Amino acid sequence: MTDLFLVNGKIDTQDPLRPAASAVAMRDGRIIAVGTDNEIRSLTTKNSQVIDLKGRRAIPGLSDSHVHYYNWALGRKQLELESTRSLKDLLDRLDQTAQSTAPQSWIRGQGWNQAGWADSRTPTREELDSVSLDHPVILYHSSLHMAVANSQALQIAGITNKTQNPPQGVIDRDASGNPTGILRDLAMNLVTEVIPPVDEAEAAEAFKEGFKVFHSLGLTSVHDQRLMDAPEYPAAFHIWQRLHAANEIQLRVWMNLPGNRLDEIISAGLRTGFGDDLFRIGHVKYFADGAQGPRTAWLLEPYEGTDSTGLQLTPIQDIAKAIHRATAAGLAVNIHAIGDRANRELIEVFEELQAAQTGPSAALPSAPHKIEHVQLIQPEDLARMAKLNIVASVQPISVTDDIPMMEPTIGARSRIAYQYRSMWDAGIPLTFNSDCPVSDPNPFWGIHAAVTRRRRDGTPEDGWYPEQCVTVSQAVWAYSMGAAVASGQQADLGSISPGKLADLVVLDRDIFTIDPMEIYGTKPVMTIFDGKIVYEA
Ligand SMILES: [Zn+2]
Repeated sequence: MTDLFLVNGKIDTQDPLRPAASAVAMRDGRIIAVGTDNEIRSLTTKNSQVIDLKGRRAIPGLSDSHVHYYNWALGRKQLELESTRSLKDLLDRLDQTAQSTAPQSWIRGQGWNQAGWADSRTPTREELDSVSLDHPVILYHSSLHMAVANSQALQIAGITNKTQNPPQGVIDRDASGNPTGILRDLAMNLVTEVIPPVDEAEAAEAFKEGFKVFHSLGLTSVHDQRLMDAPEYPAAFHIWQRLHAANEIQLRVWMNLPGNRLDEIISAGLRTGFGDDLFRIGHVKYFADGAQGPRTAWLLEPYEGTDSTGLQLTPIQDIAKAIHRATAAGLAVNIHAIGDRANRELIEVFEELQAAQTGPSAALPSAPHKIEHVQLIQPEDLARMAKLNIVASVQPISVTDDIPMMEPTIGARSRIAYQYRSMWDAGIPLTFNSDCPVSDPNPFWGIHAAVTRRRRDGTPEDGWYPEQCVTVSQAVWAYSMGAAVASGQQADLGSISPGKLADLVVLDRDIFTIDPMEIYGTKPVMTIFDGKIVYEA
């Protein structure tokens, strides 16, 4: 294997022992030295390929630590609805797809969000029927917490006016009790489960195409999340293993498991961290509450203008029991929590867990527990969370995307939303991610949003609660070291340090010195994964 040497660069290593360097040497997939051009050039042999970075900025390979890789990769093959601007737009696109799809084959789409439409109303099954009666149709909302199905899809799934809501799911109904087509949370699975499974070889190809997209964005690692009791879990697990066996995985994959399968996971003897440098078993996923937009996040005080404080999706006592059992079995958990009540309750559960821990530390999970989203948290709970060493897994693009939803739902409490700077200052490890396909996986959009708290069009001019802006270096840390810490892999990943795995990215501009408003347009010019160039602009 040839060595790969980079010289004459501006390398931000994210390693406090040597934060800046101009050159790096890589051999057999590992970084062997970091230093000055002279130091690194002195290590070259006749097998070394030396690349002059011509002064360009390089940073560690980035990690998207909350992706739904299966849904994202397969979604790219389905009807794209993210860019729809109206309900009519959605129906036009469905019409077009229906015309080119064999009758009776399923049409799946995803990414619509009525919040961005002029009429901001959800579609109905009758409206979908008006453009296609020949196909079963299901179109997932951008949040993945809701979908709309047409009459044929409901019929195949056996959903009628007599069907009960499944646990943790809602079938929306009209005044006479008939399903409207809108299915929320686990009610979506009634339809999803009757769709013939995607051919595994085809899905594996979609995964591989996705690697190229991620490399072009500077991403070399992902934490692949699970939905609630979703049929995608065994399918995704299989595809990852198939790619691994064929030596075709081109990302470091940390694959999470669904909480409702805890018994199976424990009885199979799986532990967090099991695997190798390409693929490892990750966290076990739970959901403490819903989301803030639909007012199902669990709050301490009611939503503006209502007496509702949202809801617990899983009773907190059940989550507590699961956390204790998982931890004892060597499994780290990650728990979806949006509201300030949900986050406080979880912190209490983790405090009890910590107090109860007496056994040898080798029996504990190899990665810290995580809370996903931590969207609203009371300032006095930040220090408690830091003390527990719980990782905050957060989505900076939401900061700017969610501005219109904040004031109407929680008013002046908006100041406790997305407190990234306060979390950092409190010492809570932060890991940044996109939750794709909920948001675009471009990490430079995320870094831009976290640093400026302004939209890409520049609004609001002073930033949204600008006291919560982080620095560029902190944002890069949260997209690199943060994910390594969150997965207990800080000895191998996350920084450009001697001995670590050789993942790094060279950028077309210096994000540390340019106007922060220009960060979102950053494009990698070269991505190196496992010591090899996997992408070049
Ligand atoms: Zn998610």
